[in-house]
Amino acid sequence: MTIEHRGVAGPYTEYDGLPALHATETDLPLLHPYGPVPDNGRCLTPGGGRLTIGSSGRHCRITLDHLGCPAQDTEEKGEAFRRLALAAEGHCLLAGCRHEAAHQGGILRSFEFPAGSIETTAFVRALLAVELGDGGPAGRLLEEAEALAGPVRLLNGRGELG
Ligand SMILES: [Zn+2]
Repeated sequence: MTIEHRGVAGPYTEYDGLPALHATETDLPLLHPYGPVPDNGRCLTPGGGRLTIGSSGRHCRITLDHLGCPAQDTEEKGEAFRRLALAAEGHCLLAGCRHEAAHQGGILRSFEFPAGSIETTAFVRALLAVELGDGGPAGRLLEEAEALAGPVRLLNGRGELG
């Protein structure tokens, strides 16, 4: 069942208690962990995130916004997302640029890596796996990056970028 209501920036549509979608978001394509991943565009993830795939210069830029959803903001998932950010950063080191992983308190996550260094599909699938509670693919992408670039940066004891 869906209910439409109008908030300050509405209208919004609610889906049986899931985070509400803005009217401009209800027609976005739905991603599935086994489905195709677009080269660019905006879609909704199984974990209720808004995923945007695009490019800036010679980089692929991916943002994932969970709008502060608590289920996607656990310490364990935060650490897996940081591993993905570090994997991206490792490929930037290799390419000779100085991008540093960016996070905004678990709400909007932004990733940038040189186009072609990591397969977009593999990166997005790793993001979707983290949403589902599996940090394995994120860890493997970081291992691959570190095999090429060496240790990127150390995570401190609290799992934050050190
Ligand atoms: Zn870079």
